Amino acid sequence: MHEYPATKRIVDIAEGRAREAGARRVVRILLDIGDASGYVGDSVRMYFDACAAGTLCEGAELEIRRIRVKMRCRACGALFERRPLTFECPACGGEGAPTAIGRELDVAAVDVE
Ligand SMILES: [Zn+2]
Repeated sequence: MHEYPATKRIVDIAEGRAREAGARRVVRILLDIGDASGYVGDSVRMYFDACAAGTLCEGAELEIRRIRVKMRCRACGALFERRPLTFECPACGGEGAPTAIGRELDVAAVDVE
């Protein structure tokens, strides 16, 4: 359910960018949702039409890019995908540390016209 306010915020951000650009409407929104963000893409999609109604985002296409959780190796600095039950770096066997990758809910791009 917390996707509803998040979706409203996404619509606000996209509408703000359209206004800044002097555009008539938003054509497409590219949204990055991290696997560990706590947000569900399908729920955002479900609320989108209701949130977009009457705004510059009405009728816009919502594209959702799922971002997998990545860790960074403390030893060699490699970025790697988190796997179940291990934090081990696949390159050197070092210990991985959490990063912000995979925790985001970001408007990555807004296409306007
Ligand atoms: Zn490593």
